[in-house]
Amino acid sequence: MGNVLDHGFVVLEDMMGGDLSVVNAARVSFAQKSTRLDDSEVGLIKYLMKNHHGTPFEHAVFTWRVKAPIFVTREWMRHRIGSFNEWSGRYSELTTEFYFPAVEAVRKQVGKPGAYTYEAVSVGEAVHTRQQLKDTYDHCAYTYKHLLARGIAKELASRVLPTAVYTQFVWTVNARALMNFLALRNSEHAQFEIRQYAKEMEAEFDLYMPHTAGAFAEAGRVAP
Ligand SMILES: Cc1cc2nc3c(=O)[nH]c(=O)nc-3n(C[C@H](O)[C@H](O)[C@H](O)COP(=O)(O)OP(=O)(O)OC[C@H]3O[C@@H](n4cnc5c(N)ncnc54)[C@H](O)[C@@H]3O)c2cc1C
Repeated sequence: MGNVLDHGFVVLEDMMGGDLSVVNAARVSFAQKSTRLDDSEVGLIKYLMKNHHGTPFEHAVFTWRVKAPIFVTREWMRHRIGSFNEWSGRYSELTTEFYFPAVEAVRKQVGKPGAYTYEAVSVGEAVHTRQQLKDTYDHCAYTYKHLLARGIAKELASRVLPTAVYTQFVWTVNARALMNFLALRNSEHAQFEIRQYAKEMEAEFDLYMPHTAGAFAEAGRVAP
């Protein structure tokens, strides 16, 4: 399991196919099939990647279980190519676990739209920020529990919880859309928090589809 942020994780729960599925999806055009990965198969993967023949990469599929704050999940769910199912605040009681940025992750936003940079703050400022977050989260958690204790429907009570609260979801995505996600989210332009998840996922992707991952890197991290 890849632990991420203070309470989160991303786990690869299931996987179908791999580098060879990419090769064989492409080779069916010539009514051919490979049973192993030789240099010619690896070359084919590189060719497909470089020339944006993306569909063969859709035959390898990953299922991830993720625990992340709602604000990270919201960014994640903008990725439309994939299937999501999420923990319901209507049918179950949500946790009152909230994301607290580590002291070194508390940052200031400097510059203009499109060219922001993020700068560390003093330890004193970071501690003060964390304390303010804690006071706010404690109040939200208290209200949530109090509403539930009075019998208010979970689907209404949970409205008081901020986007820093953790949720869980399952995401099934093919390798092509996964590379698009990694290109955008394991990037210095992505928000720090989602990037921590994308980093963990890219390590798993490298492990399970090493030739595709290598070709992706070689092609400048542009999804085919
Ligand atoms: C750094 C960063 C900042 C962002 N800031 C904002 C922001 O300020 N506001 C905001 O709203 N969003 C923002 N986003 C989200 C962004 O606009 C995308 O919604 C998100 O990254 C998903 O990318 P995608 O559409 O490529 O992925 P997917 O939805 O998974 O789509 C994968 C690919 O499929 C194709 N595709 C999917 N759907 C369609 C379609 N309907 N029509 C044509 N082709 C399609 C496209 O080729 C697409 O690249 C930001 C993303 C990043 C990484």
